[in-house]
Amino acid sequence: MRIDIITLFPEMCEAVLSESIIGRARRAGALDICCHQLRDFALDKHRRVDDSTYGGGMGMLMMAEPIALCYESICEQTDTKPHFIYLSPKGKTLTQKKLKELSSYDNICLLCGHYEGVDQRVLDRYVDEEISIGDYVLTGGELPALVLTDSLARLQPGVLSDDECFELESHYDGLLEYPQYTKPQTWRGEEIPEVLFSGHHENIRKWRREQSIVETAKKRPDMIAAADLNSEERQLAEKIITEQSDNNPR
Ligand code: SAM
Repeated sequence: MRIDIITLFPEMCEAVLSESIIGRARRAGALDICCHQLRDFALDKHRRVDDSTYGGGMGMLMMAEPIALCYESICEQTDTKPHFIYLSPKGKTLTQKKLKELSSYDNICLLCGHYEGVDQRVLDRYVDEEISIGDYVLTGGELPALVLTDSLARLQPGVLSDDECFELESHYDGLLEYPQYTKPQTWRGEEIPEVLFSGHHENIRKWRREQSIVETAKKRPDMIAAADLNSEERQLAEKIITEQSDNNPR
């Protein structure tokens, strides 16, 4: 997968995306990420990319033409039309389901807004979808673009090693992950669940599945309705949810 990021702060994006698992995957060629300085596509010698809004009001808006030129140059470079996403608080909230859907694209382009946002005309002409990372407002689109890039990149083949596999993690199958423990076996008098050092793989698998349901019912009861559970598992989840609401009446 290739991800192009249109930003006023390519160094900020590069600093994050050169480190750790994503940096390693890029160096190994499992992932291609290019950060583009939007000012390189400005129309004047001051490299200005924003202007005041028509109709009055506070704040500046990012102009359409530099964004259009930058996106068109990415289309030329990649010889394709990347799926174009504008990171915006008005967008649909990012979920693991959305990430699975996006991971089928070979080319994705992310637009990071700033100031009051972006001239609507360039969004209408080029942007395929708007994605938000939550119902709050940040100063710019770089952090959301980094969140999207990181979470999308780790689903790509060759990015995670086998022991960092994403398939058992929270949200992958609509549940939260089971609790995990590492050495020492006894920490400040607290033991780990016995089943985990039994060496009995089937019992461990069953324990983890049950704990996943318990964890989800306790922390995110809203996820239980859509989770793929058999009738026994659903009963367990509903029992926990009822107990919780009995213990914490409004
Ligand atoms: N005036 C805009 C509004 O009310 O919808 C907010 C603009 S915000 C200050 C500047 C930029 O930050 C946006 O263009 C967007 O790219 C980014 N941004 C802010 N919050 C975001 C969020 N929750 N998710 C994704 N992007 C966000």
